[in-house]
Amino acid sequence: MSERATPFYCPYCANEDLRPHVDEATGSHAAWLCTGCRRVFRLKMLGLNFAAASEVVRR
Ligand SMILES: [Zn+2]
Repeated sequence: MSERATPFYCPYCANEDLRPHVDEATGSHAAWLCTGCRRVFRLKMLGLNFAAASEVVRR
Protein backbone atom coordinates (compact mmCIF):
# COMPACT_ATOMS: atom_id res chain seq x y z
CA MET A 1 0.00 0.00 0.00
CA SER A 2 1.35 3.40 -0.91
CA GLU A 3 2.09 5.93 1.78
CA ARG A 4 -0.26 8.51 0.26
CA ALA A 5 -3.94 7.78 -0.24
CA THR A 6 -5.29 9.29 -3.47
CA PRO A 7 -8.51 11.28 -3.12
CA PHE A 8 -10.77 11.69 -6.16
CA TYR A 9 -12.76 14.62 -4.77
CA CYS A 10 -12.09 17.46 -2.37
CA PRO A 11 -13.85 16.55 0.92
CA TYR A 12 -14.80 20.22 1.41
CA CYS A 13 -16.12 21.39 -1.98
CA ALA A 14 -16.16 18.18 -4.11
CA ASN A 15 -13.85 19.69 -6.74
CA GLU A 16 -12.00 17.00 -8.71
CA ASP A 17 -8.87 19.04 -9.50
CA LEU A 18 -6.49 18.11 -6.71
CA ARG A 19 -2.73 18.60 -6.82
CA PRO A 20 -0.04 17.05 -4.63
CA HIS A 21 1.08 19.61 -2.06
CA VAL A 22 4.51 19.78 -0.46
CA ASP A 23 4.59 21.09 3.08
CA GLU A 24 7.38 23.69 3.05
CA ALA A 25 8.09 23.26 6.76
CA THR A 26 8.48 19.48 6.81
CA GLY A 27 9.08 18.63 3.15
CA SER A 28 6.24 16.11 3.43
CA HIS A 29 4.43 15.23 0.19
CA ALA A 30 1.49 13.63 1.98
CA ALA A 31 -0.94 16.52 1.41
CA TRP A 32 -3.25 17.68 -1.36
CA LEU A 33 -4.18 21.12 -2.61
CA CYS A 34 -7.70 21.66 -3.94
CA THR A 35 -7.61 24.15 -6.81
CA GLY A 36 -11.31 24.94 -6.24
CA CYS A 37 -11.32 26.13 -2.62
CA ARG A 38 -7.50 26.34 -2.09
CA ARG A 39 -7.73 24.12 0.99
CA VAL A 40 -4.74 21.90 1.75
CA PHE A 41 -5.60 18.62 3.43
CA ARG A 42 -4.23 15.18 4.21
CA LEU A 43 -5.90 11.77 4.20
CA LYS A 44 -5.05 9.12 6.71
CA MET A 45 -6.43 5.60 6.80
CA LEU A 46 -6.97 4.58 10.40
CA GLY A 47 -7.68 0.88 9.82
CA LEU A 48 -10.48 -1.56 9.09
CA ASN A 49 -13.57 -2.05 11.21
CA PHE A 50 -15.65 -5.03 10.13
CA ALA A 51 -17.81 -4.95 13.25
CA ALA A 52 -19.08 -1.46 12.44
CA ALA A 53 -19.75 -2.39 8.79
CA SER A 54 -21.91 -5.41 9.70
CA GLU A 55 -23.75 -3.27 12.26
CA VAL A 56 -24.80 -0.89 9.47
CA VAL A 57 -26.09 -3.75 7.29
CA ARG A 58 -28.37 -5.08 10.06
CA ARG A 59 -30.30 -1.83 10.42
ZN1 LIG B 1 -12.07 22.07 -2.38
